[in-house]
Amino acid sequence: RAMVDKASVMAASMKAKPTKSADVSATGANLKGWTPASWREREALQQPKYEDANELENALNEIKSRPPLVFAGESRDLQEKLANAAAGNAFVLFGGDCAESFKEFKADNVRDTYRVLLQMAVVLMYGSGVPVVKLGRMAGQFAKPRSEDLETIDGVSLPSYRGDNINSCEFTPEARRPDPARLVKAYDQSCATLNLLRAFSGGGYAAMTRVNDWELDFTENTERGRQYADLASRVDAAIDFMAACGIDENHPSMQETSFFTAHEALHLGYEEALTRLDSTTREYYGCSAHFLWCGERTRQPEGAHMEYFRGVSNPIGIKISDKSDGESVVSLVKHLNPDNVPGRITLISRMGAKKLREHLPRLITAIEDAGLNVLWVTDPMHGNTIKTDNGYKTRPFEAVRDEIMAFFEVHEKMGTHPGGVHLEMTGQNVTECTGGTNNVSVADLEKCYLTHCDPRLNASQAIELAFLMAGELQA
Ligand code: PEP
Ligand code: MN
Repeated sequence: RAMVDKASVMAASMKAKPTKSADVSATGANLKGWTPASWREREALQQPKYEDANELENALNEIKSRPPLVFAGESRDLQEKLANAAAGNAFVLFGGDCAESFKEFKADNVRDTYRVLLQMAVVLMYGSGVPVVKLGRMAGQFAKPRSEDLETIDGVSLPSYRGDNINSCEFTPEARRPDPARLVKAYDQSCATLNLLRAFSGGGYAAMTRVNDWELDFTENTERGRQYADLASRVDAAIDFMAACGIDENHPSMQETSFFTAHEALHLGYEEALTRLDSTTREYYGCSAHFLWCGERTRQPEGAHMEYFRGVSNPIGIKISDKSDGESVVSLVKHLNPDNVPGRITLISRMGAKKLREHLPRLITAIEDAGLNVLWVTDPMHGNTIKTDNGYKTRPFEAVRDEIMAFFEVHEKMGTHPGGVHLEMTGQNVTECTGGTNNVSVADLEKCYLTHCDPRLNASQAIELAFLMAGELQA
């Protein structure tokens, strides 16, 4: 695959460094009329209907008074890394829960998901020879878009569950009532999660010299576990070799790693409350996470979400599907990134393998013909959700794998870069997606089905995909 030289990427991103004008963002977007609250003048889909406006205002004011979760400079660092991936010189790995929950919030769960992401990154790096940019759907991935406002069970209709930061998933009127206090609780949980992630990343846990110690107990005697252990010992040998050559294994690049957070910026009141003016560039950043994305259901060009996204300088993602037409994707990308800054826009396709083979080429052609810089990422989860006869939402591992393969195939054919993958996964040994080498069956689903929303890959299934992708990146 053609590699674009790093200097030209750097030059392009340097050229696009923030201007000082107050109404122009780093991306060149004309911000006239934009404020962190200007989305309120547009139609905002997928927002909860709170009963008490004062209660909501108090919660949002509380969040406004709290510190930002991330620093704008970190988001700029991420944007450069994403630009590098868009140019084919890195691969991006997004992973984590569909929806974080209050109940499953434990240090061990955060650690296990983090650890699987580290393992996957090693597998991918070893296979591809390029850096892997790690982004967790963590520390803020709470709010969920729903197809229906109401859920009806046995003739009783209640508001749909919209994520733990909004209501609770039990099917009772009290649980389903949107409660603004949950937003503050979600902020606190995000803060604690991020604190742990930062500690793991910088405090020695993620040191490459510990590659053997990341093995998860329950994968020890599985095929995936052995495959990982084998690779880890080769990494170990490479580190010993480097040390013998006099290369310092205590160098920060071997002892620390960078890890970023991402979520769907769905609840605009919450996002607004954490939108802060960066003191170094005088631009606004969404400081609830490093990377924010807009979901398939809320990317209407005139809608409130697009209004919010145009004014924040974070790197942003837009989910696209077979329903997207090339012209409107091009116009959206231009609207959000008028100066064509590399790394600013990630297009995350989610359509299932068959539709991807049919529709992704025309979307790539539209973007290429318009000369736009984007990072292409595959989300092989959301186009492959099915409901079993026993009532479980699941995803067949084979369908997920097939969509990833289709993504690589299409990019190979088009001469563009398959830049990354976006997975719903967990470090816990759940049975939520069927298939994989440990062959979760439909009857197994009930054994350990813990997700609060969509089914996640378990550690072994996630690592299996990492080996598959490493093979593709090597090819
Ligand atoms: C998600 O990522 O959890 C999600 C809801 O995705 P989409 O908007 O693509 O359906
Ligand atoms: Mn989901």
